[in-house]
Amino acid sequence: MEVDRILNELKKTNLYRKLRTIEKAEGVYVYINGKRFINFSSNDYLNLAFDRKIAARHAECVKTWGTGSGAARLVTGNFSIHEKLEKKLAEIKKTETALLFTCGYMANLGILSSLLGDGDAIFSDQLNHASLIDGCRLSKAEVFIYKHKDPDHLKKLLKAHRNRFKTVAIVTDSVFSMDGDIAPLDELLKLANDYDAYLIVDDAHATGVIGYSSFDFFNQKPSEKTLIMGTLGKAVGTFGAFVASSKPLREFFINRARTFIFTTAIPPYLACATLENLKYVKTRMKKLQENIRLLSRLINVKSQTAIFPFIVGDAGTAVELSEKLFERGFIIPAIRPPTVPEGTSRLRITVSAGHSKEEIEKLANTISELI
Ligand code: PMP
Repeated sequence: MEVDRILNELKKTNLYRKLRTIEKAEGVYVYINGKRFINFSSNDYLNLAFDRKIAARHAECVKTWGTGSGAARLVTGNFSIHEKLEKKLAEIKKTETALLFTCGYMANLGILSSLLGDGDAIFSDQLNHASLIDGCRLSKAEVFIYKHKDPDHLKKLLKAHRNRFKTVAIVTDSVFSMDGDIAPLDELLKLANDYDAYLIVDDAHATGVIGYSSFDFFNQKPSEKTLIMGTLGKAVGTFGAFVASSKPLREFFINRARTFIFTTAIPPYLACATLENLKYVKTRMKKLQENIRLLSRLINVKSQTAIFPFIVGDAGTAVELSEKLFERGFIIPAIRPPTVPEGTSRLRITVSAGHSKEEIEKLANTISELI
């Protein structure tokens, strides 16, 4: 049977994935089989998701708004608190408007498949996130892959092909999810302007890490043709996503993005809880930046973001190292193909504002003992 054959093949090649059950989480700690582990692989970069004091405030949001939304936004699921949050998110990203989506995956599928179609073209970074890749495929536009973070290659492709297409978009992660490196947004913005292209930026790992927006990091302003997708389930510590853009684009997505139209609105309490969490972003970002600098120095992996790729090469070695760290009280799963390219299996270490100096030092010492 095909399913069994594939599962056996995955097991033989160290690519089999299984779920690990967490009983409880508190700040940066998770409990598995009653034992406490330090979590160095969460995207909860500002340590907001498992903060009991903040959760108590969220309970107030539930009391006020209930637990569900009851319908899609265009039916009876559009609440004033959704719009209040959208206003705040647009302010953060320095765009005219923002529109909430259920999650980042849905946001990327929705914007790419509605904005681009047959006769259009997308220029996409080689290491973009799976949700952007799937959005490109769903759009039916012609896709040109440019070399990772290479504006010269992108320019060559735009020069050669731009004129054949109507609508064109350049698509990139701002902070790449597996390597933690940063796209050259200033140069991409210039190319988007020069070639009359939309610039679609996935700020999932940038929001609340390198600033409120990756555009702040580069001292740039989003243009009328810029779309910034931000997620709420990472540094912001709740759940959901949004697209920050001009007003006409927001109206367009309300009318055309199928992943916005045909799905239940995020619960209003979640919008309320997200507004609460956003109050903590600025101060915690400072602490996160300190921790990033400390870990970077101690494990000798350069990163300006919360993501540190500790590349070991083959999948078996990555799994073994991850298991040894687990025995010593750290939770850092191995990341293997197809999530990352063949031969670049790694530990994807992430640091948060909630890790203490001692915990970061202990991780660095343990890694150097193990390798
Ligand atoms: N974009 C990037 C770069 C991501 O890393 C992720 C999630 N890992 C997403 C989009 C999807 O966001 P969500 O988890 O909210 O669906």
